[in-house]
Amino acid sequence: MRIALPTPTMNTMNIEEFSKKLSEILSAAEKEFRLADSSHLAVVRAKFLGRKGELAKVMRALGSLPADVKPEAGKLANNTKQKLEKIFAQFEPQKISVHKKFDPTLPGRKPAIGGIHPLEWTLRKMVDIFYGMGFSVASGPEIETEYYNFDALNTPEDHPARDIQDTFYLQKPGYLLRTQTSPVQIRVMESQKPPVRIIAPGRCYRRDAIDATHYYTFTQVEGLYVDKDVTLADLKGVLTAFAKQFIGKNVRVRFRPHFFPFTEPSVEYDFSCPVCDGKGCRVCKGTGWLEISGAGMVDPEVFKTVGYNPDEVQGYAFGMGVERIAMVKFGIDDIRLLYENDLAFLEQF
Ligand SMILES: [Zn+2]
Repeated sequence: MRIALPTPTMNTMNIEEFSKKLSEILSAAEKEFRLADSSHLAVVRAKFLGRKGELAKVMRALGSLPADVKPEAGKLANNTKQKLEKIFAQFEPQKISVHKKFDPTLPGRKPAIGGIHPLEWTLRKMVDIFYGMGFSVASGPEIETEYYNFDALNTPEDHPARDIQDTFYLQKPGYLLRTQTSPVQIRVMESQKPPVRIIAPGRCYRRDAIDATHYYTFTQVEGLYVDKDVTLADLKGVLTAFAKQFIGKNVRVRFRPHFFPFTEPSVEYDFSCPVCDGKGCRVCKGTGWLEISGAGMVDPEVFKTVGYNPDEVQGYAFGMGVERIAMVKFGIDDIRLLYENDLAFLEQF
């Protein structure tokens, strides 16, 4: 059993008390260093290791210890001093190591910068070309109504495009994911008087089985021009001007008769193959032509729907698949590559 002694003063300690005092200083120092913010580390250091600090005070008591324990006490005190330095270094390291390791003469690290996706590049380029020909850009919702996506575009009730096999219908009756950007044409014509000269770029959705040329989503740019005395020749002219700017000076455009509900007459149009200049090659499967999309003169029924007088105005409309154009431009043979975000593929652009 230990007898409680009066608290010793600094000057009259024995070796046990001396040792105990040192460990108290150590644990107090550790606590204070841990709590100190970086601007106070120096103050805390002085409090324990300074000339008038805690350790110095205990050292002064060393002289009053019996001579035979002085060497041991000296060792203990030195030991404590080293431990205090160590603790201090532990809480100071950021400052020291940063100054030692930072070499301002080393070249900087370049941040990795992504490129523009080929699809986005193509879309921007297309918009740019049509903008240069006087078309402004219009947009509309991707969730559409059956009215705008089909009815207003003169699409009969029994048209196969309306089939649930081809269209994503929403649970709310009458709503769907637009299958084309043509509804934007209706919305624009409803809200403004002719003349109209717009392109409508945007995402569309169809329930296509996915393969090398089909995907459930795709990007379309549709064009619409309505004015007095607009003819099919104007349509061919604008498509040819686009093809020459986008693909090359020698590209020609041809029309093939077709049927679409909202144009009459309707055509499908092709660009001459830029790879073989129309002579026939692997890319164009020997035909010399690349199928692009559909176009035609706006059906008078559509004009009536939006309140235009078909006796006063005519118009043409055309569609373009941005994926198709990008694939032609970059020689990409699988549409899925444009959506899989494979870096090895994308880093080529
Ligand atoms: Zn070819």
